[in-house]
Amino acid sequence: LGLGFRDYLDDCLCDTKTIDSFNNGKLFPVLHQLLQTDYFRFYKVNLNKPCPFWAEKNRCGMRNCAVKPCKPVNVQNDCDNENHTEISLSRKLALFCSEKTRQAILEWKRYDDKEDYFCLLDDEDSPDSQYVDLLLNPERFTGYKGAEAWKIWNSIYEENCFKPYTVTRPLSPMTAYARKEFYRWLEELCVEKRAFYRLISGLHTSINVHLCARYLLAGEYKYKPYKWGHNLSEFQQRFDEDLTKGEGPKRLRNLYFIYLIELRALSKVLPFFEQPSVQLYTGQAEQDKQIKKMLLQLLRSFPLHFDEGALFTGDKDEAAHLKEDFKRKFRNITRIMDCVDCLKCRLWGKLQTQGLGTALKILFSEHQIEALPKSGSSKTNFQLTRQEIISLFNAFGRISTSIREIENFRSILRNISLEK
Ligand code: FAD
Repeated sequence: LGLGFRDYLDDCLCDTKTIDSFNNGKLFPVLHQLLQTDYFRFYKVNLNKPCPFWAEKNRCGMRNCAVKPCKPVNVQNDCDNENHTEISLSRKLALFCSEKTRQAILEWKRYDDKEDYFCLLDDEDSPDSQYVDLLLNPERFTGYKGAEAWKIWNSIYEENCFKPYTVTRPLSPMTAYARKEFYRWLEELCVEKRAFYRLISGLHTSINVHLCARYLLAGEYKYKPYKWGHNLSEFQQRFDEDLTKGEGPKRLRNLYFIYLIELRALSKVLPFFEQPSVQLYTGQAEQDKQIKKMLLQLLRSFPLHFDEGALFTGDKDEAAHLKEDFKRKFRNITRIMDCVDCLKCRLWGKLQTQGLGTALKILFSEHQIEALPKSGSSKTNFQLTRQEIISLFNAFGRISTSIREIENFRSILRNISLEK
């Protein structure tokens, strides 16, 4: 199964320098600008779903775990107003809740191929769902750690990464023997299962890079303003070759792996966004045009190649079975996110798993995307919902930012050694 994919994994990832220079110099600045726009910054999410797997003990009460949802606004007054040229932020939020927009989203949803969802989408009509301004709630250090956080990571790896229970857990400090066993197990997995593990590990790396890069360095509630910044020793403890006995660099490589998978999904979905009928609706025609132009420019600038066709290409029955298994496990992970106590971590965890699920949906919908008519007719069986689009780009934005932050940490280290 999938030799091309194995080569890709083992060879291309060595060339992280090419990815660094492409991401940090070219892609990141444009993507960053795109994610500041109204379309991409408001994410509708249900953060109040109960954990389906175990009884939640306590919701994390730490200040840094809190999420600021969009303020409620008087929706009704804005609904009928077609002339929204000068619109305040709160009125823009109202537009997202307006009947017109809700209808547009429902229309998109009707076309969605539900069978192809990798993630369980939050019920958009649920009264518990709310719009969250992602720019007001940046992913950063929250203080969420210890047994609660480990329980989540444990469940994700042990129950969802095709991992037999008999294999030593990677989460506990590993003896040399346990480490050998773990990597033997990983090597023996078929390429798809290994890819799945690497995606999850890459996501884990990204979350941890963010908390190191936007660490709470100083400050006290009410008395001194918070100061956020790079925490080099935290980063080294997690990723340094010696301190992690070689685990850190492997985890960083998994970050590059998830980056390439999501990048490829984005380049593959270009024909979908090229359809004139696909709108990135914010309620302001000029702004919508600009956002779409920016998005198309970004997607057309990707030069990298990736042969994910090598996935699920072996024996037909086995391949179909694996693909279903892949989907099921991914859905399960999205449900585990409802068990994350820290709401800020839950928000970004949900967004990033939904974004990754959307990337996988794209990669496995190659034929449907190729069949998309250039004419602008919407009669195709490949669709993306607003939530999927927002999560796809924001999730990729997180990974892209992590890659840039690694470069920042490297340059901090270089400066320190120059000063010595
Ligand atoms: P953890 O990161 O908890 O890891 C547990 C064990 O997993 C490690 O001991 C190691 O053996 C293994 N491991 C670590 N990294 C990897 C990897 N990349 N691949 C494979 N195995 C690995 N904290 C914040 O401050 N801000 C956030 O926004 C945030 N978001 C989170 C979102 C989710 C969904 C979860 C589950 C946690 C989040 N956390 C966040 C917590 C954070 O990820 C860590 O769990 C926490 O900082 C404790 O770190 P740790 O060093 O104990 O190891």
